[in-house]
Amino acid sequence: MFNLVIFGAPGSGKGTQSEKLIAEYGLHHISTGELLRSHIKQDTELGRVADKYISKGQLIPDELMIDILASELDAHPEVKGVIFDGFPRTIPQAQALKKMLAERGTKVHAVVGLEVEEKELIDRLVKRGIESGRSDDNPETIQARLKVYHAQTSPLRDYYMEEGNYKAVAGTGSIDDIFANIRDSLAGIQE
Ligand code: ATP
Ligand code: MG
Repeated sequence: MFNLVIFGAPGSGKGTQSEKLIAEYGLHHISTGELLRSHIKQDTELGRVADKYISKGQLIPDELMIDILASELDAHPEVKGVIFDGFPRTIPQAQALKKMLAERGTKVHAVVGLEVEEKELIDRLVKRGIESGRSDDNPETIQARLKVYHAQTSPLRDYYMEEGNYKAVAGTGSIDDIFANIRDSLAGIQE
């Protein structure tokens, strides 16, 4: 397998660049945000739990998130590789991912870190909120999400730097330029 993590703050463009990575490398997309939003839409039990956290800008508890991830992996055993988008978001999630992949004889080959200034992130999320109607894309929840990102998620940058597979990519400019930089950063990485 060839597995990538796409990493970055809320609004850094993980979903957008994932689409392009799927097309280029034929990978399976696991977006925890999209998965949870689809549960909320269908009003499942998980959706109702998730909504309480998401609408406040908080993270879903690690144990629950890790279980969801494991079942997603098991549901698609035949894939060439996976793009993890929105997971891991905490150190325990990263440790769990490492273990899950090791149990399946594989690993995280690279972590693409989209780096974007805070002001730009806020602009993008506010704009997206006007069109998306997402319950978490309003100014108050955006602030909460950025706080959570700094406290719980950004430490993963150092975690993956130490693991030796973190690839920093500037997340500003045109979508195609950013993607070209991602491709360059992944050149030469082998299964
Ligand atoms: P981007 O704009 O870069 O795609 P995003 O901040 O919009 O990022 P999503 O990945 O769509 O975020 O996630 C939306 C919400 O879903 C999060 O704020 C969080 O409440 C919940 N969530 C998603 N993934 C996780 C996770 N791995 N652990 C805990 N909660 C999560
Ligand atoms: Mg997203």
